[in-house]
Amino acid sequence: ANTMADEVAESRKAAAKKMEEAADAGEPTVFDKIVKKEIPSNFIYEDDDCVAFHDLSPQGPVHFLVIPKDRAGLSRLSKAEESHKALLGHLLYVAQQVAKQEGLVPGGFRVVINDGPDGSQSVYHLHIHVIGGRQMGWPPG
Ligand code: AMP
Repeated sequence: ANTMADEVAESRKAAAKKMEEAADAGEPTVFDKIVKKEIPSNFIYEDDDCVAFHDLSPQGPVHFLVIPKDRAGLSRLSKAEESHKALLGHLLYVAQQVAKQEGLVPGGFRVVINDGPDGSQSVYHLHIHVIGGRQMGWPPG
């Protein structure tokens, strides 16, 4: 028999699948709109390939996201192909640069990429979370 919890999990997975399909079909994600400045956001970093901005719902004193301007098929990390390697390396490099800029070094910080429904991904446009300014726990929730 299906429990209430099973049903909640199933509907969450169905909603995630729809968002992933929409993103892969080229529909703009909320982050595409941020890149195009259709949704307001303050960039704390920008270069030709990516931007960083503070998360709307911070999980620590400092919480910012690093996203590619052109997601280039990367609705989620697990869509990565050989051709994405340079971009993925660049995003991780920028993450630590901006972490320093935001005062998170030498204390340190947490880097997270949520992938898919089990990873609790909610926006299907690849993004790196950088969270810091407090002591992190392990394991994460
Ligand atoms: P994830 O669950 O890994 O897909 O994370 C998506 C993140 O995007 C969440 O932490 C949200 O708080 C954040 N977010 C959603 N919309 C916005 C927005 N308009 N500006 C900044 N952050 C956002």
